[in-house]
Amino acid sequence: MPYIFDHLDVIKEALRRSSFGLITDVDGTISQTAPTPQQAEVSPLCRQYLSALCKQLALVAAISGRPAAEAKNMINIDEMVCIGNHGLERCSESHSEFTKDVQDYFKVIEAAIEELTPLLSMKGISIDNKRVTATIHYRLCRDPLSAERNILAAIENSPHARGLRTIQGRMAIDLIPPVNVNKGTATLDLIQEHNLQGGVYLGDDLTDIDAFRAIHTACHDLDFKGFAIGVISQEMPAKLAEEADFTLNGVDDVERFLKWLSQTAVELN
Ligand SMILES: [Mg+2]
Repeated sequence: MPYIFDHLDVIKEALRRSSFGLITDVDGTISQTAPTPQQAEVSPLCRQYLSALCKQLALVAAISGRPAAEAKNMINIDEMVCIGNHGLERCSESHSEFTKDVQDYFKVIEAAIEELTPLLSMKGISIDNKRVTATIHYRLCRDPLSAERNILAAIENSPHARGLRTIQGRMAIDLIPPVNVNKGTATLDLIQEHNLQGGVYLGDDLTDIDAFRAIHTACHDLDFKGFAIGVISQEMPAKLAEEADFTLNGVDDVERFLKWLSQTAVELN
């Protein structure tokens, strides 16, 4: 897959378009992976460049699997649009809002977590209740492969969990309502709401592939020139690189790319 630093000219060309947006995932993209989600922090350099980009671009947004308010606190940049729960929740100034239809899933998620509680007896497993979705983390398990098998078996045996969409991410399994809202639909909404004519999406995990596809759909259907950028790591799902236009090597490279983007936006202005 082409490395983006060898193809900056095409990004520059898209950046010349009148309204260019940057949409990014959070964990594993602008924040290094940590042993637990609570320990993860947005890289200070990413925060610095994102903050500058908010003044330079038509839109700077994050779409995370975390609850919207949690992502917003973690990023801590007021001007940035924050979407959480894989596209199901949006944080505005004062409160967060769920997309319609997903409120019905509050009870299902709660019941599913209840049914999966026996998993917590395995050392290293934790379950994050994010109201409309849940994430089962197993990064701290001594044998992650067998933990993953046990979790998938428990989901299969849980009447509430097995009706949900299961997505296997980096050392975590997400349970998501089977509705047609995801990082991809959220990306398309942002492109249309902000009349973007150019943009990039940065992500490192399976749920980001929906957003990569949305970027390609927008290029095809709208007056939009954009690129899907896969942040690669040893844990990266192979599919991610297949669907990306360009790659970056980890969060350090994302810092360098954001710096370049910000400097180039100033130059072109
Ligand atoms: Mg991620």
